[in-house]
Amino acid sequence: MKKKILVTDRFAQDSYLFLQQHAQFELVRSDHPQHLPLEHLVSANALLIRSRTLINEELLKKARQLQLIITGTSGFDHIDLEATQKWGVTVMHTPSANIESAAQLTWGLVLSCVNNIQQAHKMMKAGEWRRDAITGIELKGRTYGIVGLGRIGSRVAEIAQAFGMTVIAYDPYQEDDVFARLKVPRLSYEEVLKTADILSFHVPKTLETEHMLNRSQFEYIHRGIVLINTSRGSVINENDLVEAIENGYLRAVGLDVFEKEPLPRTSNLLNYPHVVLTPHIGANTEDAFFKASQVAANKLMAFFND
Ligand code: NAD
Repeated sequence: MKKKILVTDRFAQDSYLFLQQHAQFELVRSDHPQHLPLEHLVSANALLIRSRTLINEELLKKARQLQLIITGTSGFDHIDLEATQKWGVTVMHTPSANIESAAQLTWGLVLSCVNNIQQAHKMMKAGEWRRDAITGIELKGRTYGIVGLGRIGSRVAEIAQAFGMTVIAYDPYQEDDVFARLKVPRLSYEEVLKTADILSFHVPKTLETEHMLNRSQFEYIHRGIVLINTSRGSVINENDLVEAIENGYLRAVGLDVFEKEPLPRTSNLLNYPHVVLTPHIGANTEDAFFKASQVAANKLMAFFND
């Protein structure tokens, strides 16, 4: 009996064809990641999704044959894991596929912030050649503070070291070996906040990380730091961030993720020239997309062939 695989979101054509070659699979594509066709959902054995497909109890109740969900992302926060456990559905992700892209975008934001590239670009487009209006800082010799020394945080750390920066990190759950391999000292959250010149978040969305940067933490940060978040918007209390920006605590801010996505057009974050914003594109490279699709295809094969 063939296994029906419902592909709900973007999936690389090569990986799609790779799965289609295997006679045991029947592949069906859905054009709407949020609205899955009921006639296929009820008989699907596996879903290949990305973050636009929300998995909740309501959907699982309909998907009576479902054994496996693979998300081509590193985050799981679009999946109700309690519900999948209750309904006996295995969930897998593709975290290795996004590391390089997310670390690279983090660095894109850092470089834009420290060299004021976004402001210089805007002036040039407006026909202004004002060299004196744009002043940056050098990274060499400064301190890069990482919160969450996991896959992406570790890669960001290596790049910071290549710039000649001192890297420090807070991650209560990471093994000592990882800190030792990277030659990064394990510090408390407060010490990282107090010492970092660039402060960058790479933690998952959990109850513990929710608003882990808020008004009380801004008190520790020394004035003039650069703040970067490419992890999850829930990590920073945006109202408190706006207050900190208004109070001049921050040299610049680079954000790829927001408490509410898409970022509302009324957000105050849109008002500041030294705040650089991107629309959650950390994993949006051709390479990460192909890697995520192929890793998902391999995991699917292994699951049904075991
Ligand atoms: P990971 O699981 O490898 O690393 C996360 C690290 O955070 C772990 O080492 C963990 O111990 C640590 N951590 C957990 N709770 C913590 C806490 N309270 N305080 C400090 N550290 C804590 O994950 P990853 O693949 O490196 O991804 C990191 C984040 O980046 C995730 O939120 C992921 O969803 C996000 N991400 C975003 C994009 C994007 O498009 N912007 C792309 C990929 C990943």
